Amino acid sequence: METRYLCPHCGAHLNPARDIVLRASSAGRLGLLLLNPQPGNYEVVFARGLDVPPGSEVEISCPVCSAGLASARDQAMAELVFEAGAQRGLVVFSRVYGKHATYVITGNLVRSFGEDADQEVVNFWGAGPGA
Ligand SMILES: [Zn+2]
Repeated sequence: METRYLCPHCGAHLNPARDIVLRASSAGRLGLLLLNPQPGNYEVVFARGLDVPPGSEVEISCPVCSAGLASARDQAMAELVFEAGAQRGLVVFSRVYGKHATYVITGNLVRSFGEDADQEVVNFWGAGPGA
């Protein structure tokens, strides 16, 4: 089933083909970033000229409305809305390059992906979006 990733601010569809297209800023440089849409797959493509050392925090924003995508609950994470058929939820992932932690939140269900994902954080997110 096709999963659509949307900007939580303007609703723009951020994966018109396969990858999720985001605006990234690191070390004062701005460029586009492609993320694999499969949670737990940390394949990432940075536009040429973006200098992102492993372990650095990447500012992530929407390429359509420019709104920052840092999560209001945890500034170290970024947050997108996803839709898969009738299902709708949030996908939350680390903004630290090389840190593999992703949480997929649907209602009260939280699934974690990546070896750096933290069970305690799952409880934290378990409050559910908007709680
Ligand atoms: Zn947007």
